[in-house]
Parts: sequence; structure tokens; C-alpha cells
Amino acid sequence: MVDRYGRDIYYLRLSVTDRCNLRCRYCMPADGICKKSHLEMLTEDEMITAVQAAASLGIRKLRLTGGEPLVKKNILSICERSAAIEGINEVCVTTNGTLLPQLAKDLRAAGVDRLNISLDTLNPDKYAYITRIGTLDQAIRGIESALEAGFDRLKINAVLIGGFNDDEIAALAELSRRYPADVRFIELMPMTENEEFGQQAYVPGSAVLAALPELTQTEQNDGVAKLYRLPDALGNIGLISAVSSHFCAACNRIRLTADGKLKPCLHSAQEYSIKGLDYAGMCKAMERVIQAKPACHAPLSAAERSNAGRNMNQIGG
Ligand code: SAM
Ligand code: SF4
Repeated sequence: MVDRYGRDIYYLRLSVTDRCNLRCRYCMPADGICKKSHLEMLTEDEMITAVQAAASLGIRKLRLTGGEPLVKKNILSICERSAAIEGINEVCVTTNGTLLPQLAKDLRAAGVDRLNISLDTLNPDKYAYITRIGTLDQAIRGIESALEAGFDRLKINAVLIGGFNDDEIAALAELSRRYPADVRFIELMPMTENEEFGQQAYVPGSAVLAALPELTQTEQNDGVAKLYRLPDALGNIGLISAVSSHFCAACNRIRLTADGKLKPCLHSAQEYSIKGLDYAGMCKAMERVIQAKPACHAPLSAAERSNAGRNMNQIGG
């Protein structure tokens, strides 16, 4: 469906849970989340009805995210049922990768086309620090399990944080030579939770170009990342400059949170509840949310925080 600004909105990002088995410092609080009652959250059937409603309005691509989607008990069933919906051409999952050793093969069998795996550092101590409770080894085994299960076109996403991992740009980029995977550097977004990160943490994506002069620009696709390549690499290097150079003009997505709130924009507090609605009600709400998409969100910087009104784990980054 085309919005008021002529943009084709064909991509739904569905957060299946706000829970997570990690506690990344830029994403969620140290003591986890304030658990909501089951009654407040979308049921599996409501999620599937929402995806059907979205597909009827022209949504073709679905990403399941969270929180950590793989901690959701019925994730395989959600994937399988979503992949079977007419009009949905691509089902992707964004994950921290730690549960992929157990789940990668089943996700593939359930019809998941693509995986994005988050990995911010290759240093075990720094991984433990940034995730508060994770181990690097688990995440690396996750990447390797995904490859073994046959997921090609894997994407490894690193949030670029000045003073934390900007000294690892070359090492992280090197993963695109070690694995047939794209490595994407995402600018840190100033969300509610990450007020502890000072000005120096907000490193622009251009720091990657400065650190890797051997990068050459490569063929672009319809994604938000600007694509480059290292010589002899198996995958691309992507820059997602959500802060220094937003991509609102090419925005193609809407978001649905695990508690049933449709969001026209990641960085807006505007939300439309679909909890408890039937298929027809969900179709109407989706139409409304697509037409409510703003031309652009307010500027973001260390001093100008997102108006999202939620932490990233409660939206679905
Ligand atoms: N748990 C999964 C994971 O970590 O991939 C999926 C959910 S997580 C919220 C999705 C993505 O959002 C991750 O790549 C994470 O690094 C990113 N993210 C979370 N908070 C962010 C922030 N403040 N700025 C930029 N990216 C962020
Ligand atoms: Fe969990 Fe992903 Fe947020 Fe890290 S970024 S706390 S893995 S939801």
C-alpha cells in the first residue's frame, strides 16, 4: 500500500516478545522487563491474523524480532504459519544468535528465508560487558549453526559504539571474509535505555569508511544499508546510518509490538492498538497506521533522543 508520501509500504516488523535472554546495555534495563500479563500480549492467533491483514494490504516481507524472538516458545509455529500466508514472500528473523545451535535447522524447516544475527564485538570480555549476561562463544556458535543449517545471505549486525567497539571495525569487517555473510555497522540510536552512553558513543557510519580505506562501493539493494565490499570478501559491508543520515524518504515499513501496538514510525510515540480486534478491524487499523506514517522523524543525536517512548526490546529493533 502506498502512503501519503508516495512510499510503497511492503515490510512489517513484528516483535513476537519483549523478553530476552541477554540484557544489552543500549537496549534494555539490567533487571529485565516489567512483565506484562499474558492478557495484554498478542496471542499467536492474533499475530497470524495481523500478518494476514498486513498481507491483504500489500505487505510482502515479514521480519520477526523482539526482544529475542527465539526465547518465544511457539516461535517455530509462528514462523511456519507466517510463511504459509499468501502474499508473504519473505520471512526473516533478527536474533542475538545464542539459541541458534538448538533452533537453526528447525527455523529453516519452518520456512524462514533469512537470518540477521547481532554481534557487537569479538572480544569475550567486551561481549559479556555489553550483553551483561552473554558469552561470545554462544553467539559465534549461533552464526556457524545458521550457516550449517543452510542459511545463506546471512547478515551480522554490529551496533557501532564509540569507546566500545570502534577499535574493532577491521576485525568485525573481517567476518565478511571468514563467512559468506554481510557485516553491517548500525549507528547507535539514542533510545530511552541508553542514556549512559555519552556523546563519544555516537560514532557516524563514515568512521567505518575511514577505518577501511580498501572498501569499494558495490551494487545497492532496496535495504537501508549502504553497501561496500572488502577485496576477496564473501559478503558485503553495510552502513546503516540511522542517526547521521536517516532514510525516512525511502521508508517502507510498519511495526507491530508484542503487546499489539502498531507503530507508523520507530521514533514516534504514536501507536494504534490492535489487541482484541478481528481480521476486518486489523485491516482498518493497518490502513490507518500506513496513512499516519510521518514524512520524517525528528532529528536524533546524543542530545536529541528518540520520541519512541519505549526501549528497543519493546518495539522490535
Ligand atoms: N534480540 C534480537 C537481536 O539482538 O538481534 C532482536 C531484537 S534487537 C532489539 C534488534 C536489533 O536492534 C539488534 O541488532 C540490536 O543491536 C539493535 N538495537 C537495539 N538497541 C539499539 C540502539 N539503541 N541503537 C541501535 N541499534 C539497537
Ligand atoms: Fe536482547 Fe537483542 Fe536487546 Fe540485546 S539487542 S537485549 S539481544 S533484544
